[in-house]
Amino acid sequence: QDSRKYTGVVEDCCCDYETVDNINEAVLHPLLQELVKTPFFRYFKVEYQLSLPVKLWCDCPFWPDDGMCNLRDCSVCECPEDEFPEPFKKAMLHGLPSGNLKCQGGNLQDVVDRTLDSKAFRGWIEVDNPWTHDDETDNREMTYVNLQLNPERYTGYTGATARRIWDAIYSENCPKYTSGEICPERRVLYKLISGLHSSISTHIASDYLLDETKNLWGRNLELMYDRVLRFPDRVRNLYFTFMFVLRAVAKAATYLEQAEYDTGNLEEDLKAHALMRQLVYNPKLQAACPLPFAEAKMWQGQGGPELKLEIQKNFKNISALMDCVGCEKCRLWGKLQVLGLGTALKILFSVEGNNQENQPLQLQRNEVIALVNLLHRLSESVKLVQEIGPSIEQTMEGF
Ligand code: FAD
Repeated sequence: QDSRKYTGVVEDCCCDYETVDNINEAVLHPLLQELVKTPFFRYFKVEYQLSLPVKLWCDCPFWPDDGMCNLRDCSVCECPEDEFPEPFKKAMLHGLPSGNLKCQGGNLQDVVDRTLDSKAFRGWIEVDNPWTHDDETDNREMTYVNLQLNPERYTGYTGATARRIWDAIYSENCPKYTSGEICPERRVLYKLISGLHSSISTHIASDYLLDETKNLWGRNLELMYDRVLRFPDRVRNLYFTFMFVLRAVAKAATYLEQAEYDTGNLEEDLKAHALMRQLVYNPKLQAACPLPFAEAKMWQGQGGPELKLEIQKNFKNISALMDCVGCEKCRLWGKLQVLGLGTALKILFSVEGNNQENQPLQLQRNEVIALVNLLHRLSESVKLVQEIGPSIEQTMEGF
């Protein structure tokens, strides 16, 4: 007897919910959990101003005059120079303040921990991504953040400024559709963003500051119900986004398997490589869900190329909106995950075999890091929804 709430095939995908849950629990989540801890995948390159109070959020192209740099949520704390490896220290002196940069006030839980080890990365090319706003080729000052020290969790970022970002994303760039009303490509964009939003909300709820005075963190089940579980379409969109990104990883298998995961730590780098191989050539996964998303069906209608350019523009706007996220840690994860989605879009729609541009696949190091960390975030959200969703629903719905 099947007591599952979500059954059948994930909408617009090729695998059913039960298979996704099983394969996630048995294969994907354990693999990804290990992979994101390796040195190659735990360092994410960010624009230098992410870590500097002076320019933080001043890059936002949409609401330039609303004093975002002075928000209480700003919460940038001291950035002692000794946290940075030599090359970054030099960059700090180029017109940017050095020495101790004082907190501007704000939530402790929002502060990005910038502790780094001094390993640099090598051997990756720099290429543009037509889907995203940022790229590594624009020579802005960059620095690294250790993602393991900065988990995606509750930060206290709420209210009008947070709401405004989501509103702008949905209303201007990917409006919610009513069934039958929208072309499949626009539906996909909406579902990708909604699925990502569900995942962010799931992580906020699963790692929540329950008692500030005791610094007690834990699960906020009510929040998880109110923001995600209560809305079956948000749960479905989460599964969809997971399958979409998984398909992108599978499509880039050869590239990802041959890439260099070199950080100077031979043992760890070999481990990253071995885990990646297990992820992209996993027989269990291939047998259970050989085609998580069928990208070849996209852009086939009339005006396909024009539509693709339009949607690309919408996605770039969403990517640019991440510069307006007024909380440092949210901004870090927002940028990473949108870059991850942009990388999935690039793999599925902007390389050989599925477009007119006919280019071989080339990825930036940061794109690969974002893609894998995004897949991990989604995998964890799906696991949480599957494991604790039913009991929360029972409690909340009074069964
Ligand atoms: P919100 O989550 O702000 O949602 C706004 C509206 O969007 C809802 O009222 C609903 O109409 C619609 N909506 C909600 N979920 C979905 C969905 N899945 N699909 C479709 N529509 C939906 N806060 C943290 O504490 N930690 C973080 O790491 C963090 N990261 C963020 C990253 C980004 C990019 C942004 C924009 C915000 C982030 N926030 C984070 C803030 C957080 O997402 C919420 O905005 C905040 O907690 C306030 O929540 P809310 O209840 O007002 O609803």
